[in-house]
Amino acid sequence: MSTLMRATHTFTKLLSPSSRSFSLRPSASLPTRHQMSTEAENVIARLKNSGLLRSQGLIAGKWVDAHDRKTIKVCNPATGEVIVDVPCMGQKETNDAISSAYEAFYSWSKLTATERSKFLRKWYDLLIAHKEDLGQLITLEQGKPLKESLGEVSYGAGFIEFSAEEAKRIYGDIIPATLPDRRLFVLKQPVGVVGAITPWNFPLAMITRKVGPALACGCTVVIKPSELTPLTALAAAELSLQAGIPPGVVNVVMGNAADIGDALLASTQVRKITFTGSTAVGKKLMAGASGTVKRVSLELGGNAPCIVFDDADLDVAVKGAIAAKFRNSGQTCVCANRVLVQEGIYEKFANAFSKAVQNLQVGDGFTEGVAQGPLINEAAVQKVESFVKDAISKGAKVLLGGKRHSLGMTFYEPTVIGGVKSEMLLSREEVFGPVAPLLPFKTEEEAIRLANDTNAGLAAYVFTNSIQRSWRVSEALEYGLVGINEGIISTEVAPFGGVKQSGLGREGSKYGMDEYLEIKYVCLGNMNSN
Ligand code: ADP
Repeated sequence: MSTLMRATHTFTKLLSPSSRSFSLRPSASLPTRHQMSTEAENVIARLKNSGLLRSQGLIAGKWVDAHDRKTIKVCNPATGEVIVDVPCMGQKETNDAISSAYEAFYSWSKLTATERSKFLRKWYDLLIAHKEDLGQLITLEQGKPLKESLGEVSYGAGFIEFSAEEAKRIYGDIIPATLPDRRLFVLKQPVGVVGAITPWNFPLAMITRKVGPALACGCTVVIKPSELTPLTALAAAELSLQAGIPPGVVNVVMGNAADIGDALLASTQVRKITFTGSTAVGKKLMAGASGTVKRVSLELGGNAPCIVFDDADLDVAVKGAIAAKFRNSGQTCVCANRVLVQEGIYEKFANAFSKAVQNLQVGDGFTEGVAQGPLINEAAVQKVESFVKDAISKGAKVLLGGKRHSLGMTFYEPTVIGGVKSEMLLSREEVFGPVAPLLPFKTEEEAIRLANDTNAGLAAYVFTNSIQRSWRVSEALEYGLVGINEGIISTEVAPFGGVKQSGLGREGSKYGMDEYLEIKYVCLGNMNSN
């Protein structure tokens, strides 16, 4: 199902009579629907006052509607309430945005690195100054607990800060010449207009880690955020204007994902597509980019193993596995998808882990103490349900949870499933929800074999107190990122990206800059003449 269809489907589902029963059976310790709505309403009013609740696309520095005035609704996944309508744009608006980015490229790419750096720094300062507003907006449209949203703002803004700093370090090279009257230079130049397509699970950070380096290198961008969470993208774009970034450098369109994607792919002016999302859409974009031989960076799905060895520190492993699994209700591509536990520690780990998971409070992201919000939509819950059903039918055992939460809507109980086998869906595919499958193993070799037995290769986690083992296993894992005794490892200063079908290219760090740069070799000959 396309994201647009899913959004509409979700919206209909959210407003269906059955979902209204939400207010009739709140948990004793959790606020009622009415209280939640009040909180959300207050947030909306505050955001309107601050000018950050934008409901139009941004093209050439102007806030615009769809040419045919069509709109889509953006809903709060915790309550089903409509936050605002945004334009349902398509090919026409995307082509306008591309033209605007193409025109702005000429002057933006000619600025000095220091000038671009200053704009980015100003943007970073504004993102941080509006941390509270942006955090609330993320919780409102995406559902994650406010504490996590505020963390995302710091993390996401960090990519802009890092890019502001790194802009000044895009060095070329001088190569020793092979002939005495020649000089050989390497210049690094911006690739041009970039199409940035992003998902709903990190409404800010997935954008900043593309747009920061793109702008730092001298590129201009057309952003297409997820239709489920476009509001944070629009607020960030508003702040880019306030930072003085010239009109046309940052454009935002949203609506019909396939039409927008096709327009970006077809344009000869767009020289690069950078995408974070599902493997299926990533493959389509990669194929579509071949028509105009565009550069492509892809951050696709994962199937992260979290390997707990007998020699692990139990507390560290439990804490790390919970962070790796249940962050954002399990809805990240680096979330632990399979918890592989060595036989000697299996029982102890399963008990301690289940006990800790049981303490995770589920509820509206605005409620103090909540550790897990709703899933993004009904389709996400149905996927989780089908994976759990498949595991149970093949002999796995529910140790905790295993069903929808009594809060209703798209809330799902934090779940632990024991005795999972590699042929079950929970092992083969990304569940993208709050379900931790435990798979027992005997030896280090078996753990590595199980961990690598997938087409994905994004993140992996290892818990062990042996330095030698941590090196051996890290080297053997076919993954782009490895966390040792740590469940959350992403940072703007380190390279993020996958191997195998988890993607191409890296984001963040000095390596992430290369994705937006062309290398030009210049040979200066005939040096001896005047
Ligand atoms: P998810 O299942 O996480 O929503 P998707 O890959 O469907 O992952 O969505 C990630 C981003 O890709 C979203 O912005 C979505 O609108 C966009 N998208 C979906 N289908 C297409 C498409 N055919 N062309 C371009 N972008 C698309």
